[in-house]
Amino acid sequence: MKITLYGAAHEVTGSCYLVETASNRFLVDCGMFQGSEKAERRNRIPNRINAKNLEAVLLTHGHLDHCGRLPLLMKAGFKGPIYATAGTIEIAKLILLDAAGIQEGDTKRENRKRARAGMQPLEPLFKLKDVQRVIEHFRIVEYNQPFKLRSDLTVNYVDAGHILGSACIEVVTTEDGKPFKTVFSGDLGQYGVPLMRDPEVIRQADAVIMESTYGDRDHRTLDDTVKEFQDIVIRAVENRSKILIPSFAVGRTQTILYHLAEMFRKGLVTPIPVYLDSPMAISASRTYLQFANIMDSEITDLISSGQLRNDLATLVTCESAEQSQALNTVNGPCIIIAGAGMCNAGRIMHHLRHNLWHDDCNVIIVGYQAHGSLGRALVEGMPKVKVMGETVSVRATISSLGGFSAHAGQSDLLRWLEPMTNDGPQIVLTHGESHQSQELASAIRRKFGMDSIIPGLTDTIDLARKYEVKQDQLPVNSSTN
Ligand SMILES: [Zn+2]
Repeated sequence: MKITLYGAAHEVTGSCYLVETASNRFLVDCGMFQGSEKAERRNRIPNRINAKNLEAVLLTHGHLDHCGRLPLLMKAGFKGPIYATAGTIEIAKLILLDAAGIQEGDTKRENRKRARAGMQPLEPLFKLKDVQRVIEHFRIVEYNQPFKLRSDLTVNYVDAGHILGSACIEVVTTEDGKPFKTVFSGDLGQYGVPLMRDPEVIRQADAVIMESTYGDRDHRTLDDTVKEFQDIVIRAVENRSKILIPSFAVGRTQTILYHLAEMFRKGLVTPIPVYLDSPMAISASRTYLQFANIMDSEITDLISSGQLRNDLATLVTCESAEQSQALNTVNGPCIIIAGAGMCNAGRIMHHLRHNLWHDDCNVIIVGYQAHGSLGRALVEGMPKVKVMGETVSVRATISSLGGFSAHAGQSDLLRWLEPMTNDGPQIVLTHGESHQSQELASAIRRKFGMDSIIPGLTDTIDLARKYEVKQDQLPVNSSTN
């Protein structure tokens, strides 16, 4: 079995693996490159993928960097099924429809300028109708219900604990007459966090394709992160100030709301107005409520008993642009949660322009900030930033809370891999910037005495060519890592 990387090679976006066996060709994920205009120009389906002759797509989860090129795949002639869990399908619909709306809107604006300059109009990358075709091809997969893609190819989805519906995918083929199991990690969540179940234990593998987004470090502990979050909210209540939280609509927003609910319920903080100013985050939160049965049992109970609704009695959802604009005149203390998570688009931009130059404003960064994003500039402490083309001086207090990440840190990645290391599987590290993958490779070598491959874009790897476990490299006490 061979895999070829068409994304997420020495970077964290664009996940797309072409898998080829003697009798099968399929993709695992078909995600979008994101972050900068240059990255986004790479969003196409390479001819080598040969979309018309693919049997299927196996989708790990609904984040855009894993599903965002599916509409392009349809345009390139793909006709097969797209397998995903029901939760993933709902999230992917939401994210793809939103992306199509943004593409069409941006292109329309750009074309008005081009028309005035006498230039040819551009086509959006994909349109709503292309997303509709993706939706028609989705097929629901249940966790732990293996199914045959072909007589000689079995697929099983298990919980990855990353976002609603996220999965690691086990693929069993036959190599030289023997079963050969390849595990695709997808994106892995942290252990022991609210909302999501822990990543499920996978006991054996011949090859492991794993993400390394935070392969170089551990996050701050959740308890410390929650305490820090709580202290900021308490201070804001005392000072009657505003808190802005740029947040990713899917996953992070629900985590933040969960922790606010807990603070209010326990009486640790006086309940203050919480404005959820993002139509997409509002829809995603509803989807989370709808799929409470596949989430952590604690949150399932809080939802079914109505407790969560009581805890969040001060939550106000802002669907319309008018509701969003009205927040400019709202006085603190209050919390505004708005997208986009990296402060590179969306309603958070208006709130930042309006509030960053006030010293009684708090901005809490709760997720990964890519190079070049406004969020990164804020985290790096720039005294002045550009917001919507305007220079704004930063007098607000900027706090960065890494512990709410939906991604496993290094220790969690090793913990997930450990039960699979007995047979010395081939390990392929993807979905990480170079130094993150290399740090994880070093940690794997220290702990398990095994080498990893860190492939480049379009590299093809023959997974059947396994590495030996190097006994002499095993540490005396592996539990110290
Ligand atoms: Zn993800």
